[in-house]
Amino acid sequence: MTAPDLWRLRGSPGARDEFVIKTTAVVLYAAVYLAFDWLRVSHALPGPGLALWNPLPAFGLVLLLAQGLRCAPVPFVVGLLSDWAVGGAPAGIAEPLLANALAAAALTVFAALLRPNLPDDDAFGNLADIARFLAISILVALALAGLAAAAPIVTGALPPAGVLVAVRQVSLGDLAAVLGLVPAIMGIPAARLRWNKIAPSTGLRDIALFSSGLAVSLVVIGTMEAYSEPHFFYLMFLPVVWIAARQGLAWAAIAVLLAQVALVATVARFGSGREDVLAFQIFLLTIAFTGLIIGSAVTERHRAETALRRQQAELARMGRITTAGALGLAVVHQISQPLATIATYTHASRRLLQSGSADRDLVVESMAKAEAEVQRAGLIIERMREFTARGKKSVTAVNLGALAREIAEALGDDARRAGVRLRVAAPPVPSVTADRIQIEQVLVNLVRNAIEAGAALPTGKATVRIMLASRGEEVEVAVEDQGPGIPPEAAASLFEPFETSKANGMGLGLWLSRELVEGNGGRLWYDPGRKGGARFVFRLPRRGQDVL
Ligand code: ADP
Repeated sequence: MTAPDLWRLRGSPGARDEFVIKTTAVVLYAAVYLAFDWLRVSHALPGPGLALWNPLPAFGLVLLLAQGLRCAPVPFVVGLLSDWAVGGAPAGIAEPLLANALAAAALTVFAALLRPNLPDDDAFGNLADIARFLAISILVALALAGLAAAAPIVTGALPPAGVLVAVRQVSLGDLAAVLGLVPAIMGIPAARLRWNKIAPSTGLRDIALFSSGLAVSLVVIGTMEAYSEPHFFYLMFLPVVWIAARQGLAWAAIAVLLAQVALVATVARFGSGREDVLAFQIFLLTIAFTGLIIGSAVTERHRAETALRRQQAELARMGRITTAGALGLAVVHQISQPLATIATYTHASRRLLQSGSADRDLVVESMAKAEAEVQRAGLIIERMREFTARGKKSVTAVNLGALAREIAEALGDDARRAGVRLRVAAPPVPSVTADRIQIEQVLVNLVRNAIEAGAALPTGKATVRIMLASRGEEVEVAVEDQGPGIPPEAAASLFEPFETSKANGMGLGLWLSRELVEGNGGRLWYDPGRKGGARFVFRLPRRGQDVL
């Protein structure tokens, strides 16, 4: 997935939409750029103003990363326009032309270097990506500031001696904003994915705790009247580090940006003029480095966990298939003996009865033996059932909402390939007591069947829904699709083993799923009530009164 795709996770727009998106992005960029440039030049912000944190290059970078390098002339044109509109008619044309051309060129190189490191579907995937992002950002910020200083030197407006100070201050201010803005904006789709992955109550709680953490640290700084003392602002690290450790990179990036904006706004609002610009800039950089690095390490850990769980689910599935195969052979082997004996006894009884001179006791004895063999065969089957469905259960509290979201994620690729949308509607429901792996197996079976059924529809038309609901003492999970549904004559034998309509189907999925749900104290059924599509429902008894 390339960067622009990140902005259209919902559906793929056609050429017209593409044009509208690009135009909107360019207009938005120009408006924001002009507004901030005006703030910068007019000194509407007291204190160090935008020298502290200059978002202008970061905006250009986001534009090029999100909309492609073909937008490279835009920062050049908008920069020129802004110089003229905000700064008034310049004395000469050479300096603004040179300065803006150099800045736009540097931005383009920056964007070109960064683009290959951008996300697949999780912004700045891993630690290596983020380390590369930080390194490239530092180099390019230095280059940008150097180039910005080059133009006035070339045109004689700045003595070379002033260059070092200017480069240091400008590059730190640019860099701080790049590290704050670029990962936060580019990571919005990944942040949304993360939101979909966690329970809404957990997400809301974390957002509330982060915001109050940030607010409390600002209030503490305020009550100490320490607005101009950079070291007091280190209190703001706590909420940022906390959210990074809990939710990973995409959320950490947004938290870093919010903390930076809070600091810049506080300094701008209350700054007394005594401010130590360099110390504040170091703070802005440190909070960005810390948040991004912790966040990416945590995202890496989340990824590893998901991959492990996916592997476990696949292993469990393979295990089930192997067990089912072995079970089939075992059943054939174990049942053939009683069947042969039954055949012998019933045959003998029939011959006795046919001969007319039947010894009644002999017939009764023969039938009793056949009956005993029937019971033995029944017992063998029962024991097999116990072995597969209830054998090695490991019962824990299971949060069905989280499980449903995990499975939707694990099967997301299959769904996309089949052109099917996968949706989870999981309001907070009580947890259940069950074997997690077994219930996961059931959900995977039902959702796989639903995706296969939806694949019959034209691409993009079918939606598979996993819906959770609390039903009295039970928790209900329904898997609904819009496929061809199940004909009434097939519905009766749906849960029989080896019933399949698929060329490569085993016809064991639904049978095993029902066994597993019943083994966990619940029930599973097919609900033909709706028009079109199929709906499978299972319910499990809730665990105590605790709501997860
Ligand atoms: P398999 O998928 O290996 O065939 P299952 O036991 O999972 O075994 O399913 C048995 C049969 O039930 C399938 O072959 C299919 O005909 C039918 N079936 C199951 N789920 C659906 C569904 N969501 N829509 C339509 N038919 C379904």
